[in-house]
Amino acid sequence: MDLVFRGGMIVTAADTYTADLAVEAGRIVQIGQVASPGAAKIIDATGCYLFPGGIDVHTHLDTPDFNSRTADDYTTGTIAAACGGTTTIIDFSRQERGRSLGEAIDVWSEKARGKAAIDYGFHVIVIDMYEGIEDDLRRLPALGVTSFKLFMAYRGLSMVDDRALLAVLDAARDCDALVMVHAENGDAADYLQKRLLSEGKTEPKYHADSRPARVEAEATARAIALAELVGAPLYVVHLTCREALDELRRARLRNVDVLAETCTHYLHVTSDDLARPGFEGAKYVFTPPARSREDQEALWAALKDGELAAVSSDHAPWNYHGQKELGRGNFTLIPNGAPGIEERMTMAYQGVATGRIDVNRFVDITATRPAKIFGLYPEKGCLAVGSDADIVVWDPRANGVITQDGLHHAVDYTLYEGMSVTGKARHVFLRGRQIVEDGIYTGEPGYGRFIKRRGPQAQRGLMAEIHQRSAPHHLTRSP
Ligand code: MN
Ligand code: MN
Repeated sequence: MDLVFRGGMIVTAADTYTADLAVEAGRIVQIGQVASPGAAKIIDATGCYLFPGGIDVHTHLDTPDFNSRTADDYTTGTIAAACGGTTTIIDFSRQERGRSLGEAIDVWSEKARGKAAIDYGFHVIVIDMYEGIEDDLRRLPALGVTSFKLFMAYRGLSMVDDRALLAVLDAARDCDALVMVHAENGDAADYLQKRLLSEGKTEPKYHADSRPARVEAEATARAIALAELVGAPLYVVHLTCREALDELRRARLRNVDVLAETCTHYLHVTSDDLARPGFEGAKYVFTPPARSREDQEALWAALKDGELAAVSSDHAPWNYHGQKELGRGNFTLIPNGAPGIEERMTMAYQGVATGRIDVNRFVDITATRPAKIFGLYPEKGCLAVGSDADIVVWDPRANGVITQDGLHHAVDYTLYEGMSVTGKARHVFLRGRQIVEDGIYTGEPGYGRFIKRRGPQAQRGLMAEIHQRSAPHHLTRSP
């Protein structure tokens, strides 16, 4: 064996127990008492948790949008992820208007080549329904791209109509892929934006008023109905509020196969942050907008109960200087999105530190269920014999303060500046190789590799288990 972790508390989505863990050739080969480690390197994990490497299924690296480009490329973005305890991302490969889906995958493969510090896969974003796109969609799963994302928002830009959404859902069901939706009513948001601007309401705080909860809930219900019409599974990205949770519950009472994630910032930021003095609120402009404290508590409760499957970062880093500033005098021109790829694990862990979720649920929503839903399990997302040795040695007692200086991303701010946090990724291993040591990146960009993923039908058993656990009759609270 190459590596032995001694004395750590192994945490899975189901159990917490103390044991040694041995690694050979990049995989976990033994869990239990390792009596004769031979020449293996020993990692003393006493007093620490061992988590499966974090899996972030919602990132936007090196992505052109809003007449600009996100601030992190594959090198800076994946080093930041690694330092936060994430060892796999699934990044959004975005189709350009007038270009094929295959070209989008080629372009993203080039962006990642030689640069990725952690393992990665791609979703494809469908922007433009060209002649023959259904055939191209059906070819993607063979390439390991088993999820297709569409926007119901951003009218005139990336928004698709219901017919396009139906066609992609239909194709995805046939070729074993999962459709993901950004669920907001794009016509309503566009109308409300224009009305606010015409009333002279141009500051960042009006971003929240331009896309209230009902804008999200309506589109969530509509996407669910369309998926139901053609019998395709659906994954709702960045669910933010009680109204949308209600739609999820209604769908599950009808046995619709719908899963949903929330994102880190919806658990920690509220719409009040948009009203910070000066133009600071622009840092908090992401879509859907941050909601209320009551919504935050409802999201934590839904994570605890299993109704929400994952916490993703939606890492869409725009610099405050030079990018967010494009929207001075007109909030609709502020690039939508915020960084969080490095902060995600720590900020989700605050749910453990404050008693809102237990440590097993933390592993479940940051690694295990994302791996199951997106076709990475059991190679990724769990600590078991035979799994990739993607391991985080987590110090649950580390107390710290989040600051921009302490982070590795290339963007010029963090949403969580000055926030006191408990828990930290001390050491991080990817396929048995140490890539973070005492919080310092020690890996080599380019070591990360592309992971071909399976589709939802290929892992029917796992999906059935997830649906079972998120079904209303399993909940402790009445829907
Ligand atoms: Mn989105
Ligand atoms: Mn996004």
